[in-house]
Formats: sequence, structure tokens, C-alpha cells
Amino acid sequence: MRLLNNLYVLTGPAFGTLSHVYAIKYSDGLVFIDAGMKDESLPQIEKHLAYWELAEEEVSHVLITHGHWDHAGLAAYYREKGALVAVHRADREIIENGRPPAGDPLQITWPPCRADIVLDGNGKLSIAELTFEVIHVPGHTPGSVIYRITLDGRDVWFIGDFLPPDGRPEHNHKHGWTGDIRFSSRDYIESFKKLARMQPDCVLAGHGYIRMDGCEDLFKQAYADILLAWPCR
Ligand SMILES: [Zn+2]
Repeated sequence: MRLLNNLYVLTGPAFGTLSHVYAIKYSDGLVFIDAGMKDESLPQIEKHLAYWELAEEEVSHVLITHGHWDHAGLAAYYREKGALVAVHRADREIIENGRPPAGDPLQITWPPCRADIVLDGNGKLSIAELTFEVIHVPGHTPGSVIYRITLDGRDVWFIGDFLPPDGRPEHNHKHGWTGDIRFSSRDYIESFKKLARMQPDCVLAGHGYIRMDGCEDLFKQAYADILLAWPCR
């Protein structure tokens, strides 16, 4: 599905798979945001790349929102084909190990992947004419980041699992959407505090929804929801 002139979603819930993979076309190739799962996502990605007359050999970068199997599972696959893989330093170890930390209840493994670009806190990431702002939002995992970029004049945010599928962060706590054993509700609330006044135009989640408009109060509302719902802060 094409979302903007050079922005595509290649797999995800709209196509019957678990997690979204987004692609941005630019002068030197394709930037993927997240990489999907090793078995489930690849057939969909290949099908949609072909439909849009794009090729996996064009994938120059894979920007990982956080180190979970359903977002980083195919990172090694694309790296072997020449893509550079970016991840925040706090989630570097988990993607390089290809497994969750010891003691995690979900012992799902995936192909380990070396990180080529290690993101350190907040900052900019430039890829030819594309400039991403990287916003560190620990909570779901210690190394969770949001990639923010202007495309077609719109302020587009790739948020990974910062919001759960139904968009209601208080459910993270109630329903165990903790991601892994490193989940921190305190960090999560601090991340929300940072974003509460932000008003992106488009919010593209790792699961659930793709919002191309109507995002003005999204983070403010979500922050209010968790302050009311979580007594543990
Ligand atoms: Zn996750």
C-alpha cells in the first residue's frame, strides 16, 4: 500500500501479518523502517516490492525501532544483501544475540544481526536527502526509538511499539504488553512526558494502526490515560 508519494507499507496487519514494515524510496534506494519476521513477513514484502516495481537489492538501510523478533527478525537477511542496520545502543545486544534476555518469558529467537549504525540518545540520522530525527523513548524496551521525518511536507513519525495496537498505552500494563523483561513503566511515562505536547501529522505504528491524520492529541491523550491508569509511577 502506498501511503505518500515515496512511502509504502509492505506488510503488517492490513495484510494478515503481525507487524508493519515501512519503506521510503529515495535517490539511492530504499530505507526500511523495521524488518518484520523471518518467515511470516518476507513473502508479503517480496510481493509488494514487486507490485511497486521495487527490489530488495535497493534496500540500503534498515532502521530498527526496537530489538524485538517481530521488528528485527529479517534485519540479518537484508544486511546480507548489503543494507546497513541501525539500532539504538540499548537494544544493540538483543539484536546481535537474536534472542531476548535471560529470564524473559517469551523465549523467541531470530537470526542475530550485527548493527552497522549504533544510535546514541537523541539526534539526527542523514541518508542522502533523507534526514531523520531519532527520538529515544525507552519504556517498551530500553532502546526503543521513534524515527521522525518530513515527507511530502508532512511530519511523519514511525513509532514502533511506543503505543500498543489499540493506541491505549494503559493497556500495556493491564494486559502485559510489556514487550520483554526489560519493560519499564517509569521510563515509559518519562518518554510520554517528553512527547505529550508534540503534534505529528502522521503516526505509523509497528502494529495496529496507520494514522495519516487526526494525530494532534494522540500523545497528549495517551499521556493522560497512563497517568490515570498507572498507580505505580
Ligand atoms: Zn515490541
